[in-house]
Amino acid sequence: MKVYFLGTNGWYDSDLGNTLCVLVETKQAYIVFDAGSGLSKLDKYIKDSRPVFLFLSHFHLDHIIGFHALNKFNFPKGLAVFGTLGIKKVFKVIVNLPYTMPLSMLNMKVRVAEIKKGLRFPFKLSFAKLHHSTQCYGYRLSADNKTLAFCTDTG
Ligand SMILES: [Zn+2]
Repeated sequence: MKVYFLGTNGWYDSDLGNTLCVLVETKQAYIVFDAGSGLSKLDKYIKDSRPVFLFLSHFHLDHIIGFHALNKFNFPKGLAVFGTLGIKKVFKVIVNLPYTMPLSMLNMKVRVAEIKKGLRFPFKLSFAKLHHSTQCYGYRLSADNKTLAFCTDTG
């Protein structure tokens, strides 16, 4: 397991970095947590056909603003995006005109779904609600005999 911190800033980019995006490379898949402006760097690290999964903590802009960069990616197996209740509605608004290129014009297939118990992935994943001003999830990932937790924006 390798972890790449593509963005760790809150609210906005600075000279030191981008807003939140963490890439976890495992033997079976690439796992991305949040889609801040650091998301635009994904293609520097994703170089093969392993599936790519993206898990959103919540919909504050600093965690989703990177979606406007989706048009530069063409992952062989597309992208599977999971998030809290309402993600399909949010995605349809944000990843669409007039904000950015709509899903139908992207170079790859993007699947969007609410995270829920019982979903199967090529790694072990659990999630729990965090304490934040809006619905927000933290994730616990186990793969390659290692475990990490991604918990952002919580009290
Ligand atoms: Zn937040």
